[in-house]
Amino acid sequence: MGKPTGFIEYKRIEAKERSIKERIEDYKEYLLPQDEEGLKIQSARCMDCGVPFCQAGLIVDKQTVGCPLSNLIPEVNDLVYHDRIAAAYDRLTKTNPFPEITGRVCPALCEGSCTLGEHEPAVTIKDIERFVADKMTSSAKAKPRLPKIHSDKRVAVIGSGPAGLACADLLNQLGNEVTVFERADRPGGLLMYGIPNMKLDKSLVLNRVELMKAEGIKFILNAHIGSGYSFHELIQGFDAIVLCLGATQERNLSVPGDYLKGVVTAMSYLTSSTKNLLADKPLKNALLDAGGKDVIVVGGGDTGADCVATAIRQKARSVSQLEIMPALPPYRKNDNPWPLWPAVKRHSYEQEEALEFFGKDLKEYETTVKEILGTPEGKVKGVKTVKVNWSIENGKNIMKDISGSEQIRPAELVITALGFTGPEKALLEQLNLKIDNYGMPETENINYKSNLPMLFVAGDMRRGPSLVVWALMEGRQAAKQCNDYLKNV
Ligand SMILES: Cc1cc2nc3c(=O)[nH]c(=O)nc-3n(C[C@H](O)[C@H](O)[C@H](O)COP(=O)(O)OP(=O)(O)OC[C@H]3O[C@@H](n4cnc5c(N)ncnc54)[C@H](O)[C@@H]3O)c2cc1C
Ligand code: SF4
Repeated sequence: MGKPTGFIEYKRIEAKERSIKERIEDYKEYLLPQDEEGLKIQSARCMDCGVPFCQAGLIVDKQTVGCPLSNLIPEVNDLVYHDRIAAAYDRLTKTNPFPEITGRVCPALCEGSCTLGEHEPAVTIKDIERFVADKMTSSAKAKPRLPKIHSDKRVAVIGSGPAGLACADLLNQLGNEVTVFERADRPGGLLMYGIPNMKLDKSLVLNRVELMKAEGIKFILNAHIGSGYSFHELIQGFDAIVLCLGATQERNLSVPGDYLKGVVTAMSYLTSSTKNLLADKPLKNALLDAGGKDVIVVGGGDTGADCVATAIRQKARSVSQLEIMPALPPYRKNDNPWPLWPAVKRHSYEQEEALEFFGKDLKEYETTVKEILGTPEGKVKGVKTVKVNWSIENGKNIMKDISGSEQIRPAELVITALGFTGPEKALLEQLNLKIDNYGMPETENINYKSNLPMLFVAGDMRRGPSLVVWALMEGRQAAKQCNDYLKNV
């Protein structure tokens, strides 16, 4: 424990952000680099409590308690307080392969279970993680960790999102020869073409992949397995395959007019924005650019939030974000006690930006789309919305339209951010993979093994749409199971 009285003496101070005026003019990260002395003080707030739920990584009553990776949080905090940053990094990377990434994009499930958080604001665990990771992975300090053991086993990891990267990393460290196949032109999955640069600078993902290459992992990009790249030919050269394809099937809006020009999915919109940002020459696609348009984002989740932030940077004329569900409460409800993850309304970077840019909170709850209206040329010109009311009947949530609440709003770009239904079906059907009732591949209990020999499955593809930290956890667990399997073949 860094300082026994730290939690009494010091208040929680969170990482500072760039001013809104400045940051909406570019796509650089909205968080500022951290102040070392301030961070050490924050680490002194950790009480090193006897039962650190923050690192539990448990599911209780279908809700998360603590860090899914079981990061050794009190030990890391203690090492930071004593200025032993390299040792803190070693401790962190025992469980978390990419803390520079989780330190930016993780919602900090750990902080919802921090013991101090029961009475006072929680320890800034995520900020401390980013600080340690940035200090140790920036510039020359990031050295390849060459595997100390080698086997003659070859593994193909398909999909280079966080699950695939974490899986490849551990399989490589365990001595296997690993090749990652990715259908996109850049590695990273949703770390590259989902989460926008404002939240996670793409150079961090690319630097991590370069480090993994230097550690011996091969990356083959533009390799769409099952479409032009035969899976059955691929397996000839490998002893095991791990599928980490994500849950990339987007949910449709399914209302009249959803086919009109100017109705686009969140993923096509966000991917186009990042590709444009990373291209040597601008690649602007007018249909996927919000500049000067009235924009409606349908879906109030994190994906919708990233679309709002992108539209603000593209200088949309107006932006509205529609959410069908009611707003979360500001405080925990009685059925959501500590140390469960708090289901409460959170600070969000894009809503703050909207407030400054448009002068109002643009998120509307309990509102849905009935129809999309078009011009005779087939372009979107507006959206008909209606307010809804939720009630519980016979134990079920029932939604009803509120009559008379219909509204026609102008729109030239409608972005659908309605979540994901599961993995894409094409490759699963080709392989005859057994699918469960939710459309995910069935795996034997917790060993990540599919119904086919030598084939493992991990990440959003197995778990359903989730978080980076869960994808990392799944990738690592699948790697361990795959390695055990390889020892016996
Ligand atoms: C817009 C957006 C923002 C998000 N923000 C956050 C956030 O801030 N924090 C957070 O924790 N989580 C966030 N998430 C969720 C998080 O990104 C995912 O849970 C996580 O990326 C899942 O990792 P994965 O490796 O399982 O799948 P993915 O990241 O989806 O990666 C799957 C990869 O497989 C590749 N692939 C698919 N099929 C094939 C094939 N046949 N052949 C070759 N390659 C293939 C895909 O191209 C992709 O690269 C966000 C998600 C979205 C959509
Ligand atoms: S990975 Fe996420 S949940 Fe785990 S310690 Fe870091 S911020 Fe907390």
